[in-house]
Amino acid sequence: MARSVVAVLAQLRARTQGLDGLGLPMHEPPNIGLGFASGIPGATEVPGVWVAGNATDLTAQVGPSAAAGALAGADINRMLAIADTDAALHEKCREA
Ligand SMILES: Cc1cc2nc3c(=O)[nH]c(=O)nc-3n(C[C@H](O)[C@H](O)[C@H](O)COP(=O)(O)OP(=O)(O)OC[C@H]3O[C@@H](n4cnc5c(N)ncnc54)[C@H](O)[C@@H]3O)c2cc1C
Repeated sequence: MARSVVAVLAQLRARTQGLDGLGLPMHEPPNIGLGFASGIPGATEVPGVWVAGNATDLTAQVGPSAAAGALAGADINRMLAIADTDAALHEKCREA
C-alpha cells in the first residue's frame, strides 16, 4: 500500500563514552531510550558523581536541562560545605 507519511519513534541514548569506567547505573524508560540513573539533584549511586540534562533526563529541553545543572551544582556545593565542616570539627576534636 502506498504511504505518504511514515512516523518513526526515535530512541534516545545518552553518550556514555568516556564515563564507562565509573560504573554509573543506567535507566531505560519504556519507549524513550537509555540514560544515566540519578536522584533529584542529579546525584548518582557513585559517590562524587552527579549527572544533569539529557544524560539522565532524555527528553528534557534546554530550560529543564540548565535548571538540573544548577541544582546539581548546588548539591555539590552542599556536599563540599558538609565535608569542610566535618574536617574542621575533626581537627578541633583532635586538638581538644
Ligand atoms: C534536533 C533537536 C532539536 C531541539 N530543539 C530544541 C528546542 O527548540 N528547544 C529546546 O529547549 N530544546 C531543544 N532540543 C533539546 C536540547 O538540545 C537539549 O535539551 C539540550 O541540549 C540538553 O542540554 P545538555 O547540556 O543536557 O546536553 P548537550 O547540549 O547535548 O550537551 C552535552 C555536551 O557534552 C559533550 N560530551 C558528550 N560526551 C562527552 C565526553 N565524553 N567528554 C566531553 N564532552 C562530552 C557533547 O559534545 C555536548 O557538547 C533539541 C534537541 C534536538 C536533538
